[in-house]
Amino acid sequence: MESIKEAWSEILAYLKNQSDISQVAYNTWISCIEPCSIEDNAVVVLVRTNFQRGIIEGQYADRIKTAVREVLGIPFDLKILSEEDQKEKADVKPDSNFPQAENFVDQNPVTSDYSFDNFVVGPSNKLAHAASQAVANKPARDFNPLFIYSDSGLGKTHLMFAICNEIRRRDPSQKVLFTKAEFMTTELIEAIRNGSTAEFRAKYRHVDMLLIDDIQFISGKQSTQEEFFHTFDELHQAGKQIVLTSDRPPREIATLEERLRTRFEMGLMADIQPPDFETRIAIIKGKAQLLNMNISDDIVNYLATHLKKNVRQLEGAVRRIHAQCMLEGDNPTLLTAQAAIRDIKSDNQPVPITVERIITEVARTMSVTADDIRSNKHSATISAARQVAIYVVRNVTSLPMKAIGEEFGGRDHSTVVYALQKVEKRMETDTTFNGMIKDIIKNISEN
Ligand code: ADP
Ligand code: MG
Repeated sequence: MESIKEAWSEILAYLKNQSDISQVAYNTWISCIEPCSIEDNAVVVLVRTNFQRGIIEGQYADRIKTAVREVLGIPFDLKILSEEDQKEKADVKPDSNFPQAENFVDQNPVTSDYSFDNFVVGPSNKLAHAASQAVANKPARDFNPLFIYSDSGLGKTHLMFAICNEIRRRDPSQKVLFTKAEFMTTELIEAIRNGSTAEFRAKYRHVDMLLIDDIQFISGKQSTQEEFFHTFDELHQAGKQIVLTSDRPPREIATLEERLRTRFEMGLMADIQPPDFETRIAIIKGKAQLLNMNISDDIVNYLATHLKKNVRQLEGAVRRIHAQCMLEGDNPTLLTAQAAIRDIKSDNQPVPITVERIITEVARTMSVTADDIRSNKHSATISAARQVAIYVVRNVTSLPMKAIGEEFGGRDHSTVVYALQKVEKRMETDTTFNGMIKDIIKNISEN
């Protein structure tokens, strides 16, 4: 049998041609899958993050299996590994210094890789770093809340993990809760549905420190904002530390309640800028050292000159170079570095496409507000925008109908189906409308 690596391009071509997988979904979730091997009757593939793995398992695994069966002629299971997990496994040391965290809610496991020690400090992140350390050393003293914001890949989550790990090390009895705003929102929606909001509250309000990553996600989510407002006040008044990160400052988070915005701004707001050249050099050297890899100054300089905006990309380049050298059993050359950068630049770094983003984009294009789209208003313009948003969500995310209905103010399945039919019909006859929808999808997938 041909190897899975050889067959993979055919499998991709098959998936690309499936009408129930949109082009955007294909580009975002499928094209980045790397085939590895066939083991125990399963095709083993690799993706970067656990998040990607979750989406692919939840939404595309069956279709990928079908594609494998069609191309290879034999049914196989699918085993998806993530680089993130592989890395964690490799790093687990039995004599780890980190106390077992009974009190540590780890639905989003905090890896011990991220510490203050391995965070390179430079002018661009000095304030955020110092404030994080202060918060870890003396919670709820000077900066409460601590609000860290920056573009993606500049160390926000790293600093949050560093705070968690530092507290875990000093005083394991502290109840520290780290979560992502997206996760918290889902949890709240479920709690409301199951009538278990009391448990939800107990969980979020009985902690010594609450860290919420990517808080911008609660933009436009009214019930989450309402709930979080009370959680915030209760913790704050009880003298508990709150740490938040966001991809933008509070005033730029659309549809954030005023009372939350003032609260987010009342402690310390620290932004992180892209690192300067020296800092980039130090980061590259640090990452190479973690991988036990020697790289020449030429290469370090080359990377630092070409990747300026995003530390995650720098790190990705170092990992790629490392992987290449492992495969070839050679020291990295400038050519290896050039290839690694080329790959990174051509990687269209999939940004998770959220319903939130889709609604914002549709609202902007069709001149209504995101709140209108989620509301029960029935004016013609708003209904049309809502239907378009539902159509785009369905095509771009492949979220099941039921979940889509829930995202749009708890509408039922038949409303979703009706919206899809209505939009599809109009797309057939109205070319301007058709073009607008294509533009919306293009904007969402390019950002
Ligand atoms: P963000 O949450 O801002 O998107 P992350 O915290 O996930 O970014 O950082 C992306 C990657 O870059 C992580 O692997 C992190 O360890 C690394 N990183 C970012 N800033 C630094 C830094 N100053 N020193 C070392 N590593 C960093
Ligand atoms: Mg982050």
